[in-house]
Amino acid sequence: MTTTIAVANQKGGVAKTTTVASLGTALGELKQRVLLVDLDPQGSLTFSLGIDPEDLDVTVADVLLGTSLAEDAIVITDDGLHLLPSNLSLGSAEEQLVGRTGREQRLRVALDKVAADYDWILLDCPPALGVLTVGALSAADSVLIPIQAETLAHRGVGQLLDTIHDVRQFINSKLTVMGVLPTMYDGRTTHAQNVVRAIGETYELPVITPPIPRTIRFAEAPAYGRSILDTATTHKGADAYRQVAAAMLAAQG
Ligand code: ADP
Ligand code: MG
Repeated sequence: MTTTIAVANQKGGVAKTTTVASLGTALGELKQRVLLVDLDPQGSLTFSLGIDPEDLDVTVADVLLGTSLAEDAIVITDDGLHLLPSNLSLGSAEEQLVGRTGREQRLRVALDKVAADYDWILLDCPPALGVLTVGALSAADSVLIPIQAETLAHRGVGQLLDTIHDVRQFINSKLTVMGVLPTMYDGRTTHAQNVVRAIGETYELPVITPPIPRTIRFAEAPAYGRSILDTATTHKGADAYRQVAAAMLAAQG
């Protein structure tokens, strides 16, 4: 059985890409077969896994436009992760998709053809609620919402939940919300604890534990072009992601 998770929040810089790379690596360490999908034209996930986005001939953009199969676009990173990569061509593909038939279903249809090869498919959404994020929500079993524990972090969560509600009603009735994942968390401040609790209560969403602590090690990782857990096998952020991954695996049964 394959579990597909969209990591989404239209706010930029909340650690969507870091979460996808870290959970993907951690699930791989647990002998899970994992596919990561970069749905951001910026190609940050692709880059952070050691692949130069601009060197790619075939990307997720071709898959969405129907000119390539997912299996022909997937690359294997130095760390052995399978990645459906992205680059700036996804920006123009997104424009071309407007007005094309089935634009919000195209990712699901493409991933259905490779899903049997994977236990987990993690979708790294762009910082917008456009066709790419809606396509991800349409292909997913579940959504994970990273949030930064700061005062205004929850602005926008309501809008994302409205979009999830619409997707559930009109496209993908099985979509569930896995929960909010506090990132860049400073547990020493009661402020951070209060914000996270308030967000969970306001939106009636599960809060995933443990929260991911703020650590400089994440900021350093992409500079090496290596995956995030690999550069510092035991730092506290990597270990928090490993615990979340182990809980996901346990919940999958
Ligand atoms: P998004 O994909 O939501 O835009 P990113 O994953 O790219 O967010 O993260 C934004 C920035 O925050 C990056 O520079 C990343 O290295 C940094 N970052 C992510 N998680 C942490 C963390 N736990 N502690 C410190 N910095 C982090
Ligand atoms: Mg990102």
